[in-house]
Amino acid sequence: MKRIKTLRVRFALWTSGLFFVILTGFSVFVYIRMSRNLYAAIDDSLTLNASQIVAGLDIENNLINIPTDFLDESENAELRERGFTVQILTRQGEILQKFGLHQALLPHLSSKIVDPFFSTISDPSNETTIRVYTTPVIENGQPIALLQAAQSLEQVQDTLERLFLTFLVSVPMLVTIAGFSGYFLAARALAPIDQITLTARRISAEDLSARLNIPVIDDEVGRLAQTFDEMLERLDDAFKRERQFTNDASHELRTPLTAMQAVLGMIREKPRATEEYQQALDDISEETERLITLTENLLNFARRDGKNNSVHEPVNVSTLLGDVTDSMRPLAEAKGLKLKREIEDNLYVRGDSDDLIRLFVNLLDNAIKFTEHGEIYISAEMQNNAVKISIEDTGIGIGAEHLPHIFDRFYRTDKSRATPGSGLGLSIAQEIVQAHGGKIEVTNAMDKGSNFIIYFPV
Ligand code: ADP
Repeated sequence: MKRIKTLRVRFALWTSGLFFVILTGFSVFVYIRMSRNLYAAIDDSLTLNASQIVAGLDIENNLINIPTDFLDESENAELRERGFTVQILTRQGEILQKFGLHQALLPHLSSKIVDPFFSTISDPSNETTIRVYTTPVIENGQPIALLQAAQSLEQVQDTLERLFLTFLVSVPMLVTIAGFSGYFLAARALAPIDQITLTARRISAEDLSARLNIPVIDDEVGRLAQTFDEMLERLDDAFKRERQFTNDASHELRTPLTAMQAVLGMIREKPRATEEYQQALDDISEETERLITLTENLLNFARRDGKNNSVHEPVNVSTLLGDVTDSMRPLAEAKGLKLKREIEDNLYVRGDSDDLIRLFVNLLDNAIKFTEHGEIYISAEMQNNAVKISIEDTGIGIGAEHLPHIFDRFYRTDKSRATPGSGLGLSIAQEIVQAHGGKIEVTNAMDKGSNFIIYFPV
């Protein structure tokens, strides 16, 4: 059989099936209970009335004395009106007195009857089913006559038949209604899912702008839709950043290459003096240097991708920062800068020591690069359950308009154009800090230098 492909049809079928089973079970139970009760009521009334009649009989010396109008006496006559058939017989089955509609209640009565019993027979005179109660009339422990009381089962059968018909009509009707309701409920609940499917189909790597924008409902489907939108948002962001990165990277790579091409083109135009060749080679070497730095930084980025979950071990940042400062000191001193430091002992951060070295080198390198006079002050201390590291310089500073972008990839201020660099150092630094659960801030006063502050959770 072909599998049913829509959830709502399957849901509707399941609902109908379930309703069918429950309603059928319920109907059968009600029908059986009802029929038992109705039949029991008939039997009870036959027994009761028969025993009342027997009690009213006049028996003397084991002989039953029935006045001719006995059954016509008021209380017995009432039974006749209520549709009962009653007859008193000898033990041999000879009718002594009788009233009622039904004939030949039990034609083959045996004289040996000692216990009362019920039988259900069909009355040939009017083809109705009747219930007969036959009881011996006992005197001194001896059965001396028989009494039969009977009532038609027509009413009971009618009632049961009507009940059966009611179930026969209402069960399929309710099952159908349940099926339709199931279908519409499922359709209503699943409508956003269709929307998700349509949106997902519309999405391509080029355009991730589509959103479901389903009103926020806090249920399973609502949460799914919201999660889907959030996922699209993140993907969209990631794709945009990736594209931006590729654009920027290509652009950055082109600049030194174009410069080299220009130098080469110019030098090859005509024969040049040795100094000119020398100058051209220097220019090309400078551009190559830039390319190397840029490529290294790009490589760094690529390697860092997905490194956020790397194993973090306790790292003594006091020692690490001290070592990095020592190794950078010659660079600072070559520019006539003082490198001061005040580092508390044994400050530990959980992290990756290679990444932390890269972070400090980037920041110190910038501080040295962008400072012409004065000093660079490095400090590390515990502050409010965090390790606070600050690298302060007295360099060119960063204009307020640049502060919000300083950690963006490839972002460089105009002032720094003359200094070699790729604009990637700070964004790498920020990624490293964030991967360690920390935060990095920059404060400065124009022309008084910059202060980069990092907080690491302990
Ligand atoms: P790069 O140093 O390669 O240019 P970075 O990402 O490290 O790239 O820095 C981005 C920009 O931020 C720099 O070009 C510079 O304009 C500015 N900057 C970074 N550090 C400092 C600093 N200590 N003082 C002044 N400007 C800085």
